[in-house]
Amino acid sequence: MLNPDFTHELRRATLGDFRTDSVTRTLYSTDASIYQITPKAVFIPRHQEDLHAAVEISSKYGIPILPRGSGSSLAGQAVGDALILDLSRYLDKILDVDSEARTAIVEPGVTLSELNLVVGKFGLGFGPDPASADRATMGGVIGNNATGAHSIRYGMAADHLLATDIILADGTLATFNEKTLERANQLAQDKKDALAAVLSGGIR
Ligand SMILES: Cc1cc2nc3c(=O)[nH]c(=O)nc-3n(C[C@H](O)[C@H](O)[C@H](O)COP(=O)(O)OP(=O)(O)OC[C@H]3O[C@@H](n4cnc5c(N)ncnc54)[C@H](O)[C@@H]3O)c2cc1C
Repeated sequence: MLNPDFTHELRRATLGDFRTDSVTRTLYSTDASIYQITPKAVFIPRHQEDLHAAVEISSKYGIPILPRGSGSSLAGQAVGDALILDLSRYLDKILDVDSEARTAIVEPGVTLSELNLVVGKFGLGFGPDPASADRATMGGVIGNNATGAHSIRYGMAADHLLATDIILADGTLATFNEKTLERANQLAQDKKDALAAVLSGGIR
């Protein structure tokens, strides 16, 4: 049973569809795996701001969240005792295609087939080709690091990801890209050095 204050706050702060009825929860209790777990509720954000609010409010009330694309995962990744965030319904736009740079910016609900249809006009395509491409959303493709029959030649999803906008638990936006990765590696290295110093200090 969800905290009524949570329900009230989420409804007040967002325009998305918030569903707690048993039919919806049953529909979202399965993916393409053998697992079945009924979620606490389902939230379908209308736009990015809805998502920020949903993440922040869920975090405030200690409600686990589970982002979901098309739910075609084979190992139960898209089901859980959580607030399901269905990103496939409204957040499904291709925001930009730069054929010269061979890059695209997409919202998470765009399916891989839709993306390939658009970039195909420029003789381009997203490398990994899961057999579920006509359903699989880019959020799910990235979340699963999807592969396909041609991945030996064209790589996995992570090999083609340049940057991601991530909503953190407090609802704020962070962008991760090659530069932030370098910085994170540097910080990890610094921490390792610091730890090594502490350890060697301890040994002495
Ligand atoms: C018939 C069939 C064939 C398949 N063939 C392949 C194949 O060849 N190769 C392969 O790799 N997979 C395959 N799959 C598995 C699956 O379809 C793919 O991995 C696909 O990329 C999942 O996309 P989805 O939109 O359904 O993601 P979902 O199942 O909805 O989600 C996948 C994961 O990503 C997370 N996620 C989704 N969206 C977001 C987001 N916006 N932000 C953060 N996390 C998010 C979810 O929480 C979950 O953990 C197949 C499945 C079927 C049913």
